[in-house]
Amino acid sequence: MSPLRSLLLSRSAVDRDGERRTDPGLLEALWADPATRVLRVRPDGSAPLRARAQGSAEPAALELVAPGDVARALPEPGPVVYLGREEDGTAHVAVEVPDDQEVADAAGWPVRSGDEEWAGLRAVAAELDDRDAGLLVEAVGVLNWHRVHPHCPRCGSRTAVTTSGWTRTCPVDGSEHYPRTDPAVIMAVVDEDDRVLLAHNALWPAGRFSALAGFVEPGEPLEAAVRREVLEEVGVVVGEVEYKGSQPWPFPASLMLGFTARASSTGVRVDDVEISDARWFSREELAAAVTSGEVLLPPSTSIALRLVEDWYGEELPARPSW
Ligand SMILES: [Zn+2]
Repeated sequence: MSPLRSLLLSRSAVDRDGERRTDPGLLEALWADPATRVLRVRPDGSAPLRARAQGSAEPAALELVAPGDVARALPEPGPVVYLGREEDGTAHVAVEVPDDQEVADAAGWPVRSGDEEWAGLRAVAAELDDRDAGLLVEAVGVLNWHRVHPHCPRCGSRTAVTTSGWTRTCPVDGSEHYPRTDPAVIMAVVDEDDRVLLAHNALWPAGRFSALAGFVEPGEPLEAAVRREVLEEVGVVVGEVEYKGSQPWPFPASLMLGFTARASSTGVRVDDVEISDARWFSREELAAAVTSGEVLLPPSTSIALRLVEDWYGEELPARPSW
């Protein structure tokens, strides 16, 4: 297996340091330490970027600040999440801040003003270094979970943030709840003539084509999910499947598991619900369609593009993207 090239959201340079999360005083101690770095994230997944001179070619980097620059006291009830520490010991925490966070209020939130540039992963992941990309993927993933799972699934009570932001605990029945990740398979389907099958989603603007993908169902192995999704969406029968790599996709909670799948039939019958068009491309046909702009491939942040390039054998020609 050749690993996929440059999965931009699979990078990291920070040890998640899971053992330390169970220290009940950890977040308070880190918030009192001016050396701690805080990553602020808005509900839309955007984070502040370090100021750059106008027109500067400098790549984007996250603006990480001291706790005192965010709020005087540890924000309660949070969530505040311990993300881990760097080799030099620098500890990182993430906190969700409101959209209008430039307005300082009596709760002590926040000190920083609204002239910062905020951006999300889709916009800046390609520019961020490994540390910043890993921090933002981790923070967005776990904060998304907190936002949509505030209540106990057993009794409906509001749960409390515990384990330095990595669990929620029900105050009524004591049940503990863990962040969710939803596995999804994504596959470059290739036929006997070595053509690749790309599909157009019914909701996309004209010209966009990508690899087929879908969520894994409960009780289903990954290989079966690949075969089921391809059959459902385009009516193609798949035999052998080969795992190629994975990338978190925290929009809001997916883990994309990438495969190459060998088709044993080539007749395409789209489901017309999710998929409205699907075509086989030879390498020459795809290169020509991308160059002419007839086909727009997914962005460089996606594992979909890396799967297509893995089949193609190299980077595709320079192209307009989504
Ligand atoms: Zn409960």
